Amino acid sequence: MGQAGRGILTVVSGFAGSGKGTVMNKLIAEHDNYALSVSATSRSPRPGEKEGESYFFMTREQFEDLIKEDELLEYAEYVGNYYGTPREFVFKMLDEGKDVILEIELQGAMQIKRKYPDTVLIFLTPPDIEVLYERLKNRGTENDEVIAKRMKRASEEVLSIKDYDYVIINDNIEDCTRRVHEAIMTAHHTVGHERGLIEQLESGLAKWRT
Ligand code: 5GP
Repeated sequence: MGQAGRGILTVVSGFAGSGKGTVMNKLIAEHDNYALSVSATSRSPRPGEKEGESYFFMTREQFEDLIKEDELLEYAEYVGNYYGTPREFVFKMLDEGKDVILEIELQGAMQIKRKYPDTVLIFLTPPDIEVLYERLKNRGTENDEVIAKRMKRASEEVLSIKDYDYVIINDNIEDCTRRVHEAIMTAHHTVGHERGLIEQLESGLAKWRT
């Protein structure tokens, strides 16, 4: 049911260190209805990150060309770097019935919510702040200054969780992945997403109304 229709657009945000990436990889490995959007960014690759898989890495100038050419669905500056969602892939996948996931930060999430109010907005959080700090430190790829910047950013982001539809705790990967999947599956049946079905029912019943 609902599979033949247009896919659901979902935004997943979370503090740096919320484990978003791991949850997204698991979600995609376990279900074939998802397509994960690959963002463009002006930040440098971290060890192990792959071009076209983790991100499309580019210079600030190249990124600004994408903005000028209106090729991004949304974009934002985060801790000194540009990040943005290439538009074409998202619409193509939604039209093919895929549920598209954008793993993006808050400012981009709010742009998407304004433009596409039927989007499902999910915020992932570790169970508490100590876990958040430890996860960032243990990642080992960032220096103290970057960690401090990201914690500061988290202290601002926390104020906007109420603008999301769901806040899901990542205390355990399996449970968290299941909850994210359930939230997206439920969205297939909202009145906002099922407009086509409603119109079909309305016209089918019109002759009985007189
Ligand atoms: P990181 O540098 O750790 O990979 O990502 C930093 C932040 O940028 C994360 O919160 C991530 O979700 C966000 N981000 C990644 N891609 C995009 C994007 O296309 N647009 C926006 N607005 N944020 C993004």
